[in-house]
Amino acid sequence: MTDAALRQAFSGVDLWIFDLDNTLYPYPPGLWSQVDMRMGDFISTLLEVDRVEAKRVQKDYFRQYGLTMRGLMERHGVAPEDFLGYVHDVDLSVIAPNPALGERIARLPGRRVIHTNSDTAHTSRVLAQLGIAETLFDAVYDIAATGYQPKPGIPAYDHVLREEGVDAGRAAMFEDSARNLLEPHRRGMRTVLTPTSCDVASQGSDGAHVQFITHDITAFVSDVVEALK
Ligand SMILES: [Mg+2]
Repeated sequence: MTDAALRQAFSGVDLWIFDLDNTLYPYPPGLWSQVDMRMGDFISTLLEVDRVEAKRVQKDYFRQYGLTMRGLMERHGVAPEDFLGYVHDVDLSVIAPNPALGERIARLPGRRVIHTNSDTAHTSRVLAQLGIAETLFDAVYDIAATGYQPKPGIPAYDHVLREEGVDAGRAAMFEDSARNLLEPHRRGMRTVLTPTSCDVASQGSDGAHVQFITHDITAFVSDVVEALK
């Protein structure tokens, strides 16, 4: 990616929106499977079904509602904080610290925010482990902030843009889930995908709504900062 191409793409952007999990850091081997397993446990206990059926429900709700938790809330009245507290109770020390990423993000011109389908408690723990000060971000929009409306649902993006008071054409979004970039791209945001091995998340990653793909977000943000100098 040349400086000129990056400058052309990102000049005029003054709102930088970052997803959290698998975007600001790659899932270390085994971490996602821990979270995934705890989701399965939670559903299995809740619905009194075996692990196979729990897994089916988990995937089904993820596809149908954008977020497994949303399906559990709507169909079974699950309290979101109960679910999130349970599934995120994993050992995050396996995430490699990356203070360099924080330094680069701090140099992006304009506001920097996090927009995640997880919650603020988890966000704080992850940022602490990464060695990135939470104060570096001007706002954290978590799943509670958006009224438990997850990406890729339209209300989630509406909420963030309304709160920020910024036209989508002046925003850029970093995400590991390709489908979460469909709506941002439709609205005129610049879109950057940090690919993942998750099949559901990468579906459609070859689409026009994915403008940039990077396997190294630290280097990519660094390049953007340099290009915009
Ligand atoms: Mg993510």
